[in-house]
Amino acid sequence: MAGFMDKMNSLTETTKLNGELKNLQQQRQNLMAQLGQAVYDYKKNEGGEEPDYSQMIEAIDAVNANTKAIEERIAILKGGVVCPNCSQIVPQGNRFCPHCGHEMPTPEPPQMQAPAGGGFCSGCGAPIQPGMKFCAKCGTPTGA
Ligand SMILES: [Zn+2]
Ligand SMILES: [Zn+2]
Repeated sequence: MAGFMDKMNSLTETTKLNGELKNLQQQRQNLMAQLGQAVYDYKKNEGGEEPDYSQMIEAIDAVNANTKAIEERIAILKGGVVCPNCSQIVPQGNRFCPHCGHEMPTPEPPQMQAPAGGGFCSGCGAPIQPGMKFCAKCGTPTGA
């Protein structure tokens, strides 16, 4: 039942994250409206001092960063990756984004670390623990 519970948990988390995403979209809209209003007021009122937009821009950047982090988390929960070009969720293993055609980066194969004092099997490349006389994966003698 562990797998089932995991699925339940990830579903609950996805739902929660989708809720947060909605909040962030709302926040972003509000901030954009504030920024727009500030720019409008300044342009309308010629000769006035230009307001400092940097705080609003920083707040928008923070919301954008949070949005991206949550989208990536949702993508991972769904077993996918986020397209670096259009930020859509792309199923893992796709070479190209189905939304924008961007070539997806191929994940670097994890570098295997040889066990301390051990090595790799000459037959199959599996890590060999020190003291192993035969590869546990394919049975090739290790020469130890
Ligand atoms: Zn894309
Ligand atoms: Zn082997």
